[in-house]
Amino acid sequence: MITAVNRPAALHINVAAIRENTEQAKAHLKPGQKLFCVVKANAYGHGAAKLAPVMEEEGADGFCVAMLDEGLELRRAQIVKPIIVLGLQPAEQAPLAAANDISLPVSSIDWLKAAEPLLRQEGLQLKIHLAIDSGMGRIGFSEEGDFKAVNAYLKDNDAFFVEGMFTHFASADSSDSHYFDYQVSRFKKMESLLTVKPKWIHVDNTAVSLFDKDVDSDIVRFGIGLYGLNPSSAPGAEDLTPAFKLTPAMSFTSELTYVKQIHKGYGVGYGSTYVADSDEWIGTVPVGYADGWIRKFQGFQVKVGDVYCPIVGRVCMDQFMVKLPKEMPIGSPVELISDNPDAPNSLRKAADWLDTIHYEVACQLNDRLKRVYDNE
Ligand SMILES: *Cc1c(COP(=O)(O)O)cnc(C)c1O
Repeated sequence: MITAVNRPAALHINVAAIRENTEQAKAHLKPGQKLFCVVKANAYGHGAAKLAPVMEEEGADGFCVAMLDEGLELRRAQIVKPIIVLGLQPAEQAPLAAANDISLPVSSIDWLKAAEPLLRQEGLQLKIHLAIDSGMGRIGFSEEGDFKAVNAYLKDNDAFFVEGMFTHFASADSSDSHYFDYQVSRFKKMESLLTVKPKWIHVDNTAVSLFDKDVDSDIVRFGIGLYGLNPSSAPGAEDLTPAFKLTPAMSFTSELTYVKQIHKGYGVGYGSTYVADSDEWIGTVPVGYADGWIRKFQGFQVKVGDVYCPIVGRVCMDQFMVKLPKEMPIGSPVELISDNPDAPNSLRKAADWLDTIHYEVACQLNDRLKRVYDNE
């Protein structure tokens, strides 16, 4: 995909905010804990290759990504700290991961049996993290028998180095700890079956760390908080207060490329879902659903100059229209997303509007948008 560098539309990433959040996350660690910065999905849309070195400067001990390709991107960006892939990869990728010193998760003995000859062929040893499904229902060992068998298989097996054992919580962002406690007890049970001793046993995500949940973890896999966003943000859910202040890093700006007056009865956009009921001023912004600014944003308020203006008519593929309070000049600044968490167009408010979480909104703003790094 071409990044539109010549278009007046950009995602701004406040690097100082990323520094601040990383530094605070590091300071909040328990004694002995390590900070692994989760930079999957291009650092939740913020730019992984650009920001991982910044996080490293602020104390990151390692990085987590979702897939091998993302880990390779970090290695190309000269990151030498440990990298853990969190999602399952095909066994054929084991040698590529090992050759780049990238750790992979393991969920089955069959995967190990498929990967082992490939590693031996190339004389490589793979670092692995044993995934435990303690109640997320996603990946990992959930049967004790399977886990015992894998421990036996790994004993004195030099094709693999058991670097970690981990699980992921389904509801660490809730004040109701019932299911969380259930997952902890299931994980502890599996841990008691270990016969190989992993270097790191880890369970924490941002929520576990920021809401001070009572569980041990050698590593904090800190993701959304790095970007200044509160993990407890699901529509309709309560907001828990994080242990330290988060500073959002992403804002989204553009400008008006066209301004016109329309008269009563005139329609705006595909399907004419908006019809003027008097003389009105309409502005056009050169951003659309092909950028991830989806049609559901119709009605959301963006800031034009100093005023919040509703998006009228359907969002098109590459443009959308706003209703202006008065005539405004072409080139007037438009703020689609503010990095002020209290603004009506914060990422959180945008997520509420779309009936989703800000994780999803940050990730869906795609590579056609240029990313500009401020306050480096
Ligand atoms: C994405 C992910 C994280 C980070 O989650 P945040 O809520 O962003 O902190 C941690 N662990 C696993 C396994 C993940 O998939």
